[in-house]
Order: sequence, then structure tokens, then C-alpha cells
Amino acid sequence: MESLKEKVHRLTVQRFGKTIQLFAPLYLSNECVDTCLYCGFSRHNKIERKTLSVTEVLEEAKILINQGFKHLLLVSGEHPKKVSVDYLSEIARTLRPKIASLSIEVAPLDEQSYQRLALYGVDGVVIYQETYDKEVYNQVHIAGPKKDYAKRLSAVEEACKAGIRQVGIGVLLGLSPWQKEIQRLIEHAKYLMKRYWQTEFRISLPRLKPCASSFQAPYPVSDEEFAHIIMMLRVALPELGLVLSTREKPELRDQLIYLGVTHMSAGSKTEPGGYAHPEEAGKQFDIEDLRTPAEVARAITKAGYEPVWKDWI
Ligand code: SF4
Repeated sequence: MESLKEKVHRLTVQRFGKTIQLFAPLYLSNECVDTCLYCGFSRHNKIERKTLSVTEVLEEAKILINQGFKHLLLVSGEHPKKVSVDYLSEIARTLRPKIASLSIEVAPLDEQSYQRLALYGVDGVVIYQETYDKEVYNQVHIAGPKKDYAKRLSAVEEACKAGIRQVGIGVLLGLSPWQKEIQRLIEHAKYLMKRYWQTEFRISLPRLKPCASSFQAPYPVSDEEFAHIIMMLRVALPELGLVLSTREKPELRDQLIYLGVTHMSAGSKTEPGGYAHPEEAGKQFDIEDLRTPAEVARAITKAGYEPVWKDWI
């Protein structure tokens, strides 16, 4: 284990230096037409629903920018009418000049829509497949457009074809045995890297957390297994960015700084409007790292790494 840790540390520093890039999620909407068993935004959950106006999005962004963030990730449920391409374009057009990078984690779109959003400055797209096991996928995605496994999988390539600079993929750990999921995730990443060599890929590994749906992870992943998975991914895919969210507790996040992680969110709120008006709308899931962005940055510095707020590539 010690030699694996050393190897992982060496591979990460060789490629990325001793840096951790910071970003913040900005939730646009918790309205969703899908029924996904594991998600707080699932259509039939009784939560306060809200879609931010462009003015409200700017209010949220202003708070994050004042905290130091220059990389924002716009997140929403799947609602083609409320979170349309027009709506996203308007937000990107208004927000992009104020920041260094703007990514989206919204419903899968087609190549043309991604091209249009790229014109307004969207340079990153995140689409988690959640699970590569089709049977499990079918069991947890009860109704709605997300039930289409193939469409979700192909949307990743639509983003690549549209020329989106950074594309994030990942699985939701806990839905099915992680060994097989990680093997398929690595295969998927290798295929994408070979076919779309001009795209920069990243991997995120959200673990199932409590939310309004009360769904229990059928295959929970322990902290030890989680750290092991991150290390395996670094060895298998030395050139890929590995993203860690505030779903994980501070002690574990601090340890993982040394072990392959390259990007971290900080100070996250998972409800729309949560930075300016906390808890007025339903959140997607509970977070465990409740530190402020400044506190997370201090922990990174203390570990001997540089927190990067702005990366002009
Ligand atoms: S996982 Fe996504 S699509 Fe499914 S309910 Fe949650 S926000 Fe909607």
C-alpha cells in the first residue's frame, strides 16, 4: 500500500504539479421531470421547487466570485422547458465575461445545442452515466428521459464533437459493485481519450449520500475503498483530472489531496439560490465538508499544495 501511495503521488505531481483547482457548483433549478430513486430532486419528492431567474443566478455568482471562485459549474435537474438551451445561453452570455471557466451539469443535449452554448462561453460539460450496469440503470431510473441509457451515454460524445474543451464523466458509487463499475469507467475513459484526443477529460466519483428520497445505497463504498478507487484511477489514467466534491468529509478530503485528486469543490450549496438564500428551496443531497472556501484553501496550502482559483488555459 505504501508503494502504491508513493506511485500515485508521484504520477499526480508529475502531471499536475502540487496544485488543487477549486470550483463551485451553482444550482440553477431543482425542477425535474425524471424519477430517479436516489436523487433529492426526483419528480415526486415533496420539496420546495425553484428555478432561478438570470438576475438570481448573477446574485449567486457574485457571492462565489467574491469568495475567490473563477470556475463555476451550473447544475440543474432535467426540465427541458424551465432549463432550456435559451435559458442556459442567456446565463452563459451574461456570466462568462466575469469568470475564467463555465461548465454545465444539466440534461444531456445534442451536438448543435452544445455548439451553441460553446459560442456563449460554456467550456465544460459533465455527464455522469451513474452506473454502467444497464439492469441497475433501469431499476433506479423509473421514469423520464433519463431512463434512456444509450442517449445519456452518447451525449458525452455529442459534447466532444461540439468542441467542448473539458468533459467530465463518472459513476455514482453505491448503486452496484464498484469493482465492475470502475473497470467500465476506465474502459469508457480510454475509448473517449483515443477517439476525442483534443478533449480534456475528467472523472468524478460521487458517493451516494442521504437526500429527500431516503434511498439507501445497495452497495455502500467505505472510505478505505473510496481512497483505493481514486488511487486505482490515477494509476490507470495518469493524465486525467480527478474531481472530489464536498459530499466527502473534511478529514478524508484532506488525505486525498496527496493521493491523486486534482480538482475540488468547496463551500457548496446543493439547492438553487442556496448561497444568497440558504434552505429556501429543496437541496439535492447532504454535504459533509461544511468548511468555507477559504478554510478549504488553507487546508490545501497546509498540505503543501497550491489552491488554484483561476486557471487560464
Ligand atoms: S438525478 Fe438528475 S435527472 Fe434524476 S431526479 Fe435527480 S436531477 Fe433529476
